[in-house]
Amino acid sequence: MLKNYINGEWVASTGSASIDVVNPATGKVIEQVPAGTADDIARAVEAAQAAAQAWRNTPAVQRIQYLFRMKQILDEHAEEIAEICTNESGKTYGESKAEVVRAVENVEVACGIPTMLQSEFSEDIAGGIDEFMIRQPLGVCACIAPFNFPIMIPFWFMPYAIACGNTYIVKPSEKVPMTMTRIFELFEAVGLPKGVLNMVHGAKDTVDALLDHPAVPAISFVGSTAVAKYVYQRGTANGKRIQAQGGAKNPVVVMPDADIDTTVRIIADSVYGCAGQRCLAASLVVLVGKAKELFRDKLVEAARNKTTGYGMDPAAGMGPVITKESKERIEMLIDKGVDEGASLLLDGRNKPVSGYEEGYFIHPTVLDDVKQGTDTFATEIFGPVMGLMYVDTLDDAIQLVNSGNYGNSACIFTHSGSAARRFRHDVMAGNIGVNIGVAAPMAFFPFSGWKDSFFGDLHAQSHHAVEFYTQTKVVIERWHDEWNRKF
Ligand code: NAD
Repeated sequence: MLKNYINGEWVASTGSASIDVVNPATGKVIEQVPAGTADDIARAVEAAQAAAQAWRNTPAVQRIQYLFRMKQILDEHAEEIAEICTNESGKTYGESKAEVVRAVENVEVACGIPTMLQSEFSEDIAGGIDEFMIRQPLGVCACIAPFNFPIMIPFWFMPYAIACGNTYIVKPSEKVPMTMTRIFELFEAVGLPKGVLNMVHGAKDTVDALLDHPAVPAISFVGSTAVAKYVYQRGTANGKRIQAQGGAKNPVVVMPDADIDTTVRIIADSVYGCAGQRCLAASLVVLVGKAKELFRDKLVEAARNKTTGYGMDPAAGMGPVITKESKERIEMLIDKGVDEGASLLLDGRNKPVSGYEEGYFIHPTVLDDVKQGTDTFATEIFGPVMGLMYVDTLDDAIQLVNSGNYGNSACIFTHSGSAARRFRHDVMAGNIGVNIGVAAPMAFFPFSGWKDSFFGDLHAQSHHAVEFYTQTKVVIERWHDEWNRKF
């Protein structure tokens, strides 16, 4: 059974209930994680509170020294971390290693926090009066992570929060708790003061305890839209600062002038990478005008050529989906697509992977002619399913994209600068790709999200994270010149 990391020590949960951690490629239980209790959270908050004052008073330039060590440890142990990630999440080893890189990038950007915390200063706002603004930490903060990026997502928040002077609690997904547990074990060598960085395992009860704890002023959340909305509402009702990233249904628009081979390759990678379980995965491919005859068959062919298998097998281009329930839900949604009038050009169901017959595999699937307004158009499938749609013009495509509920990302493939410019200007989504399949912002940009993909104001990463994890204080000072003359 995994343990929590509280006050620099590994401690058992105060509860006895547990949840199985399953390797989705084999269907075998590989670990058990505590279901979590409010007492576990109370202990972690107490430890983080005890550490808060000294940590807040540690200069930012000293705080980031710990981050430099984190980066080094992540780099040195990337292979080991990636293998654990692949075995509990199902993604390929290459995808897991790419996650380590994204985590490291966030640590690197957070190392610039002494500069990002620099203040604004106005001299002589009135005669002899100066005014300036400083940013100070909030106290004990936390993040709640989803299953699909076990390594990267806590690093969208944690390095920024602690470099800004907060103490912190990470709550990994109960489906993939082993990766972050190993990272915390490795981070013991970082030598952070006890209580600065804590980890509590668990599921809904743990999340609720964080949302209700009066000494936790800010929480970052990433997960499905229903839970993101719930976390935002419950957290803000309790007076907390909340940033909650939700689900997605990312459209990709293909203009007839797009380069055929690169576009097909990039879209297939976007749809089927991480078995479609990426919040920026292309889900609906909208072919404009003649793009239908140019791209449709090639996209199906590219999907057919993807190999599915155990993520540690170098031949596997795509792994399984996360759970049996998830597999069944995706299979049901494929049926629903057909019931709603789409045709199944490629059916990835019911094809066991040799040697991994108990794994939760679905091979690439293509639903053709998905119609606007159907559930297949609106629902996040979060699996390896491409929905093809057809429109006559770019205007129609933009209208179609904007009619969806989500706004995580939208991409366009074209040679036309003016089409791309129109698209990026008019489309209602937080991350826009132009000839890019997965429009993931680098760590020095905020990770935006609109509509049902995000609840809150400030986003993950970069200066948004710095603003989220600090509060401003404006100081107005007057030093009378004549006082000087007395001494
Ligand atoms: P999830 O919502 O089921 O779980 C996310 C977290 O919330 C977990 O830590 C879980 O323990 C907790 N949780 C689950 N149910 C809860 C409840 N009823 N009350 C309180 N807490 C609860 O999400 P998931 O399945 O782990 O992750 C996949 C989802 O995350 C997809 O919808 C995906 O689009 C989304 N996602 C979004 C982004 C983004 O940047 N917008 C990034 C990654 C994933």
